[in-house]
Amino acid sequence: MNLFELIRSRITDPARTFIIKADGSTMSYADMLDRSGQIANVLVLDGVEPGDRVAAQVEKTVENFITYLAVLRAGAVYLPLNTAYTLAELDYFIGDAEPKLVICDPAKREGLAEIAKNRGVASVETIDAKGQGSLIEAADKAPKDFADVPREDDDLAAILYTSGTTGRSKGAMLTHRNLSSNAETLREYWRFTDKDVLLHALPIYHTHGLFVASNTVMMAGGAMIFLPKFDADEVMRYLPQATSMMGVPTFYTRLLKHPGLTKAACAHMRLFTSGSAPLLAETHDEFRAKTGHAILERYGMTETNMNTSNPYDGDRIAGTVGFPLPGVGVRIADPESGAVLKQGDIGVIEVKGPNVFLGYWRMPEKTKAEFRPDGFFITGDVGKIDERGYVHIVGRAKDLIITGGFNVYPKEVETEIDALPGVVESAVVGCPHPDFGEGVTAVVVLQKGASADEKAIISALEGKLAKFKLPKRVLFVDDLPRNTMGKVQKNVLREQNAKLYG
Ligand code: ATP
Ligand code: MG
Repeated sequence: MNLFELIRSRITDPARTFIIKADGSTMSYADMLDRSGQIANVLVLDGVEPGDRVAAQVEKTVENFITYLAVLRAGAVYLPLNTAYTLAELDYFIGDAEPKLVICDPAKREGLAEIAKNRGVASVETIDAKGQGSLIEAADKAPKDFADVPREDDDLAAILYTSGTTGRSKGAMLTHRNLSSNAETLREYWRFTDKDVLLHALPIYHTHGLFVASNTVMMAGGAMIFLPKFDADEVMRYLPQATSMMGVPTFYTRLLKHPGLTKAACAHMRLFTSGSAPLLAETHDEFRAKTGHAILERYGMTETNMNTSNPYDGDRIAGTVGFPLPGVGVRIADPESGAVLKQGDIGVIEVKGPNVFLGYWRMPEKTKAEFRPDGFFITGDVGKIDERGYVHIVGRAKDLIITGGFNVYPKEVETEIDALPGVVESAVVGCPHPDFGEGVTAVVVLQKGASADEKAIISALEGKLAKFKLPKRVLFVDDLPRNTMGKVQKNVLREQNAKLYG
């Protein structure tokens, strides 16, 4: 079934509010149906046929979001692109994905028209940061009625490129079933209803903001306060109207610095969730102390949608990503042999379920390498399942440090460093070392005015960690390098320190 059909079936009353914009104006579900119908008609005029890709690199606007729905209705495949990508990067993505239509900011139109010509893209349309542009002008004149194109469960709904944290971004092929099954599961698990108002401050070129947040709300016929980006003042201004917010860890660390964050400010809220990067236990605890809310942490990836979640009722345990979601199989395996490990052992996290993607776009070899013969997808994340069934992530397989033949999981070292007085956070990476292969290297952010130095940190860790796990060097920075989803870019740290040990 077309995901949009499901979304449509959840509209309890077309007159209900669907979106509250940053300027306070609103859009009803009826408006959404009209607008997405108009845009779908323009897509068809532009030559978009069922199964065609529609690439969009546009600022976060309601119009851009409605375009995603229009693409679904037209039976085409939505392909959002990070707004940070340069023209040179776009050339790669467009060459790879071969979309029929590219939607971009007017500022990039000229450059993209050139790429489009070389790459055989039929049309280029624009939408700017105010929601104006050629696509919207054409939509204004187009009919509102549009007959949704039927889709099978295994037809593609979207291709989403991964964040590129560990290497070049890969296009994950997501089907209608992948998206609808996960949205439905999350609606139930997190108890979304049509009374919900979700504060939406995430970007919509990534799975978190585009699917987890929006699809879950639409499954319930709820409403969204649609902010163009995360701004702590703006979020605080809208919190009293919202019931829920989904965020990345940096949202919470920034909110904690806001003087307005109190129990009273969150009185209308029922749920805060976090994901896309690990939430520090300290952030969880501080947030709870200040607001009375235990942030619900969950774990997912572009390829799989959401896999695990802390419970709605029951203990939300800081530093864990909770239980496998209903219908999702999660196991821990030996990275090399694929043998399933016993409870408590650390290994690679593997998942299977209707949420798991079809494969990487035009990378059959890579796809084959990442699936086990019995259909489990090898996530590349390393973790364990504790005796209560909670999944813990200890890092990524690619970040594992091998020093003098010993394995070091960065998270274990980071956790010890983070607990030292004066430390805000840390990232531990392996840097090339002439004797050890890789040298354990800690990059640390100190609190303002804290006086810890390299020697003090290393000696504080002695006795807590085996000798081979101790950092050989501790470096200090003001901030860890992060991408827009709040992920620490360990590859950047490794590159910056490639010559550290000679
Ligand atoms: P690439 O695959 O291109 O290297 P990426 O894996 O960062 O980039 P995404 O699909 O955006 O791209 O992110 C998925 C990853 O994010 C997961 O594999 C996991 O490492 C991390 N992640 C998501 N949620 C959590 C969480 N709650 N705690 C820790 N890590 C998380
Ligand atoms: Mg990944």
